[in-house]
Amino acid sequence: MKQSYLNGIIVVLILIAAGLGWTLLSLNKPAQITEPSTTEVTDPIVADTESDTSTATDKRKPPRFIPGTTTQTEPVSADTETILDLTPGYLITVHIEPEQNPTVERQNWGTLNTLVNLANEYDMKLSLHFSASMASLVSQNMEFIDTVWKWERDGHEIGVHHHDPSHAAWDGYTDDASLIGSRGYLGTINEMMDLVSALSVDKTILTGSGTSNPDEWPEWVIYGSRGGSPPSYKQMVMPAETDVMGNTTVTFLPKAPFNVSMISAANSATYDRIEDALNDVDPDEYLGLTITDKTLDDQGLADLERVFQLYVDNNIQTQTIEVLLNR
Ligand SMILES: [Zn+2]
Repeated sequence: MKQSYLNGIIVVLILIAAGLGWTLLSLNKPAQITEPSTTEVTDPIVADTESDTSTATDKRKPPRFIPGTTTQTEPVSADTETILDLTPGYLITVHIEPEQNPTVERQNWGTLNTLVNLANEYDMKLSLHFSASMASLVSQNMEFIDTVWKWERDGHEIGVHHHDPSHAAWDGYTDDASLIGSRGYLGTINEMMDLVSALSVDKTILTGSGTSNPDEWPEWVIYGSRGGSPPSYKQMVMPAETDVMGNTTVTFLPKAPFNVSMISAANSATYDRIEDALNDVDPDEYLGLTITDKTLDDQGLADLERVFQLYVDNNIQTQTIEVLLNR
């Protein structure tokens, strides 16, 4: 009994010694352990080279995140949101002006089509603000309605453009009861919105421009673009501003007149002024332009194409107001 007990202890001791020896042997194989450290050293060098290259190619601005057209409906992670919040926004509002002459309105419709096609070529998104008169023209033609619905599906925005009775070219719509039945009167603000809403696939208009009178602002329109008085390139780069318009709290983004013939060259956002402004857009600011279908001629389209190319060269994509304010 005693002898076998001792034998047992010896066997256990031998086994422990063998285990220790094996452990020491495996610790004695350093050749493979050093390899990861060599790759770790090279990784930071690669990263440094990359960041050096990016600053060298784009020294003027921080790197941008360009949201795709469908980001609005996709869930956004907290990290992505932080990046987006730190990125300046770029927008182009198109004033589709009220027009009483049907022939001119048809010409403006043609201009609008050329404009949107040009924007699509450069993948720029437009905020298209329709007056009720153009909305009426479009609504009378199924092919035209299909075209505008396609523009919206392509990522452009359907908004409203309203000239209230104080405007030299009143569009005929107002909630001022004293003007019902007056010369040029066409209907209430709600009636105007019914016409414009028909141009949106889901019949929802969230964006507008034109009037600064809170009583004339359409109730459900929560986003807008606006410039100064007189309109000037000095309002090209601004942060978002919030104002109460009637019963609605509205967030406004800036707009500066580009190629609007009624605006003097001294006040216009020219190519050179836009190029200069690109260096001055802070992460919480927006660079906004306005163009109008009424005065956009061939030269205006050529000038606009230069701006689109300038944006492409600087990795800038314009976005709709709704997308910019929902990032
Ligand atoms: Zn206007």
